[in-house]
Amino acid sequence: MAGNGSGASQWELGWRRRLFVWEQDLLRDLLEVLPAIEFSDSADAWFWDLEDDGRFLVKSVYLLLGSVFNSESVFNDSQLKVFKNIVKSPTPSKVLAFSWKILRSRIPTKVNLVHHGIHVNGGMECVFCRGREETSDHLFLYCDFADLVWKAICRWLGLVIVIPPNPFLLFDCFLGAASSKNIRSGFSLIWHATVWSIWRLRNEVIFSNGVKDLEKVVNALKLLSWKWGLRQHKIPVCLFYEWCWDPGLCLRR
Ligand SMILES: [Zn+2]
Repeated sequence: MAGNGSGASQWELGWRRRLFVWEQDLLRDLLEVLPAIEFSDSADAWFWDLEDDGRFLVKSVYLLLGSVFNSESVFNDSQLKVFKNIVKSPTPSKVLAFSWKILRSRIPTKVNLVHHGIHVNGGMECVFCRGREETSDHLFLYCDFADLVWKAICRWLGLVIVIPPNPFLLFDCFLGAASSKNIRSGFSLIWHATVWSIWRLRNEVIFSNGVKDLEKVVNALKLLSWKWGLRQHKIPVCLFYEWCWDPGLCLRR
């Protein structure tokens, strides 16, 4: 915060690296909502502006974000419906945030990095198929490897799904194939665990000399979805081998 010579104050923000273009847009939004500060001699105190009594509630943040998304039309109606189902999923918050970034195409894929002026060793090629550029849609949907992963998931869940052209629709397909609230919750977990596991394997291949391994990624997402569901009491208690055998059976208990 610095004075401008006329008695008023303005924000002077410093960053450790150059901001991406989309971050500059966020910064502009932030500066618009940051209130002008008036200094006084009274003691500082925390006050959450969205509640009358000043106490922080997650609910008020959720409602604020909902109004922002609705008013700015970040998503169209069908995307908004999917987004609401995604944030309701019993998944760790870091994974929800990651899935949200996929839907906004804001994860640091090679193509995104290069478009924001960051040098990427080895070019923009996908590490799994070594032929196409690594965009978000490619990595999670169109890549031959991603296709094998989703086909393995569909076989596991007993689903027949033609992989749709974007991750919103794929999430919708998963939930649409579920016949009860419990199964929807489980399928939603598995969708999150799948994109999370594909991303983790991609990072292992790039940064830790990992290898493309279909069985490994499928086993990882089975374990993650089972652990997340049990931890948040969102799937009936079952053993891991039962979950691997038939998650639908576990979810119908
Ligand atoms: Zn690929």
